[in-house]
Amino acid sequence: MNPLGPGATIGVLGGGQLGRMLAVTARQMGYRIVVLDPNPRCPTAQVSDRVVVGALDDLEAARHLAKQVDVITLDTEHVPAEILADLETIAPVRPGASVLRTIQDRLVQKQFLDRIGMPQAAWAPVGDADELEAALGDVGRPAILKVRRAGYDGKGQVRIDPDVDAIALLARLRGELAVAEEVVKFTREISVILARGLGGEIQIHPIAENAHRRHILHTTRAPAPMADPQRKRAHAIAVAVAEALEHVGVMAVEMFELADGQLLVNEIAPRTHNSGHYTYGACATSQFEQHVRAVCGLPLGDPRALTGAVMVNLIGDLWAAGPPAWHHVLARPEAHLHLYGKDAPAPGRKMGHV
Ligand code: AMP
Repeated sequence: MNPLGPGATIGVLGGGQLGRMLAVTARQMGYRIVVLDPNPRCPTAQVSDRVVVGALDDLEAARHLAKQVDVITLDTEHVPAEILADLETIAPVRPGASVLRTIQDRLVQKQFLDRIGMPQAAWAPVGDADELEAALGDVGRPAILKVRRAGYDGKGQVRIDPDVDAIALLARLRGELAVAEEVVKFTREISVILARGLGGEIQIHPIAENAHRRHILHTTRAPAPMADPQRKRAHAIAVAVAEALEHVGVMAVEMFELADGQLLVNEIAPRTHNSGHYTYGACATSQFEQHVRAVCGLPLGDPRALTGAVMVNLIGDLWAAGPPAWHHVLARPEAHLHLYGKDAPAPGRKMGHV
């Protein structure tokens, strides 16, 4: 397979901030970008060569994009795998439909992790309300109920404490039920961000340590302080996942670290990741450049950290009284402001990061 050099066109399905930062990097490297998104002013469209306006499950629109590009990649895992399988007949899709089929349904993802022997929190499938009590019997309370699809940032999950009416809480969940999971008493959350190239080579960025607020990533610091053997264990888990999936591109594996050092896989993201934003500026090669290199079949870059970094997400709530006072942020010479060009700041919406 010949590598796709600069001048080639990359199609991106989904026009959020991940696509935007990918597009900025890809264009800097001399690639062209076409993005599919329902919003012609989406964050990625603002920095792309062309936009195909359409929903991510609009097969005709996706085909229209596929015919204009040399390779297709994703800003989100929520593009239906059947659409990706169809597009694979037009242009290479990286990561491919089979990866997405495993990842985008939380139940299938958990079954996959069990099958390849990866450690995770105790869980039980819950297909409907009738199965709920039995599943809670298996995992105990408190538990977290999660839906099958589109369950990012804590959307599509609800916590079931002891002595609450679990059935009544179901009303809060939108989407098809997937699993009940034990509530893990972790000491911290980490993520391993790696890239796997077309030939199977892997490079791993320094591990990130993540703090969430209201289920949304708030702060990442990297490299996470960690003893060598523990780092190797975390790497081994992420590498095993990427290899079992035959993933191509950047992948993030989020893990819980327990007091006894155990690592449990929480979630796999088959794409660049919010906890990897620090790599843009702090590492020799950012996660976005790494992803471009991987999906274009080029050699991977050096993921090493050039400096320590802290990343703080800017959530829409900060705009409650108008735009934040940016001069306070920029008064710090080491700070770098990234805004995603979203027009409506809403509570819980990721607007940018520092
Ligand atoms: P998720 O969308 O599954 O990544 O969940 C978002 C965040 O919710 C995680 O990063 C954790 O902070 C929290 N969370 C999710 N699942 C669990 C669990 N089983 N135990 C404890 N906290 C969890």
